[in-house]
Amino acid sequence: MSKQESAPEQSTLFSRNPSNIMPHKLDLDSKLKFRCHPGVSCFTACCGNINIVLTPYDILRLRRALNLPASEFLLRFTTPVYLEKTDLPGVRINLDEEGRCPFVTEQGCTIYEHRPTTCRYYPVGMSYFRESPEKKDESAPAEEFYFLVKEEHCKGHEEEQVQTIREWRADQGIDESDVMNKEWMELVMRRKSFGHQATLSEQAKRIFFLASTDLDKFRELVFSDSFLSSYELDEETQKKLREDDVELMLFSFRFLAATIFGIRESSLKVREERLKQKMEQIKKDRAGAEKRAEETYRELLKDHEELKKQLESKKK
Ligand code: SF4
Ligand code: SF4
Repeated sequence: MSKQESAPEQSTLFSRNPSNIMPHKLDLDSKLKFRCHPGVSCFTACCGNINIVLTPYDILRLRRALNLPASEFLLRFTTPVYLEKTDLPGVRINLDEEGRCPFVTEQGCTIYEHRPTTCRYYPVGMSYFRESPEKKDESAPAEEFYFLVKEEHCKGHEEEQVQTIREWRADQGIDESDVMNKEWMELVMRRKSFGHQATLSEQAKRIFFLASTDLDKFRELVFSDSFLSSYELDEETQKKLREDDVELMLFSFRFLAATIFGIRESSLKVREERLKQKMEQIKKDRAGAEKRAEETYRELLKDHEELKKQLESKKK
């Protein structure tokens, strides 16, 4: 939505009124008749009563623009929510008492260059589609498609400008956002598509939330003794993760994919000795369990013999 003193867009990929979605599947070459600019009578109307869920890249961009540590940004501007139709925790932007986005003024969006992905997309939405929901082949790539959200108050649809979805995406900087969000979105979509076949543990949810919202804390985790003694991270990788937030964010997606979703990840190797320790522990646990079972069995036999003797002596 509302660019300060100039152009378009707003709303959300995750939560919207289904009655406002046009029932036509669009692709990159589909035409979009729409223009948003400060001259429209509805200027900034779309920056209120909305649900803007933030991706990790949105959070990174916004807190950099506002020059805030992640924890302060999260505390001041967001509220934890579950990502739509999943048990994965994330955050959405807090609205003010009037239900308006905290970044909107009469002149438009004050953080326009750094605005969240959902604001860039509006009034276009993107979704994924899988051919055979029954088969649910996790390895099959999902088909991406677009749709138009047409809300009564949005007068941008009455403007004459026509462009393709491809051109719209490039103009709004969506291509870059999508590249950055892709791996994280795939995890969310995977959780959404394949449902709650297995419940995520509270610990898994906490790790997902931490990695998806607070890169400062995630960095502390990565450089903790327990993490470094569990995973092989060469010097070069460590340097990148220490210095480069985007590298750290992309690493966090792979970490989540491997640890929470069990997706094999070649760039994240568990240390050999850690694996051995784990195996030893499992063997020990198993041996312990077998030993305990044997002892219990012997005790039961003993009790049984005892009982038998008592019964026999009573008969006599
Ligand atoms: S961040 Fe807020 S002010 Fe900016 S476009 Fe999005 S809803 Fe509007
Ligand atoms: S309601 Fe539509 S036209 Fe009006 S400011 Fe928002 S995106 Fe632009």
